[in-house]
Amino acid sequence: MDIYGGKVHRLIEELSSLPGIGGKTAQRLAFHIINLPGDRAKQLADAIVDAKQNTRYCKSCYTVTDGDLCPICASGKRDHKTIMVVESPRDLAAYERTGRYTGVYHVLHGVINPALGIGAGDIRLKELILRLEKEDCEELIIATGSSVEGEATAMYISKLVKPSGIKTSRIASGVPVGGDLECIDEVTLMRALDGRIIL
Ligand code: ZN
Repeated sequence: MDIYGGKVHRLIEELSSLPGIGGKTAQRLAFHIINLPGDRAKQLADAIVDAKQNTRYCKSCYTVTDGDLCPICASGKRDHKTIMVVESPRDLAAYERTGRYTGVYHVLHGVINPALGIGAGDIRLKELILRLEKEDCEELIIATGSSVEGEATAMYISKLVKPSGIKTSRIASGVPVGGDLECIDEVTLMRALDGRIIL
């Protein structure tokens, strides 16, 4: 039964379609939004529309940004000869939070997962290979997660890159198996990075 009326119901439905938001949380958020003071609800809505309309992928590393290049790729202070391959912009953010990684990134937007029908052509792997052909890369650090798919993708990339002679390394297995990199603390991530193994 629709006890709140159509408009509230629609807001709850939209919110509950978001990842990690169940029905009860959606209700709580909906009533929070409805009770926001002044223009706050509009600011929230505008931020969603603005982010959606004005974000794109960085031309170099494919993270989400609002210009041609993300601030990391555009920075002269970063070591552009060290490239870390990560699964998602969230993983990139996790490594940035350590504050100790000074290289640049390449975001795959997923891993190879045959069970889900995700092949090498469905992630930003071709873009990585093209980038390695064009740029002077001294080390490629493969930091895909330690799930079965993350490990298999790491193996696949290392085999693909091997003929180029570029030094390739894999983050240490201090990262828990199946772990979501975003949920791992900075110290663990730094250990995984410092203890990386040359492939
Ligand atoms: Zn970038």
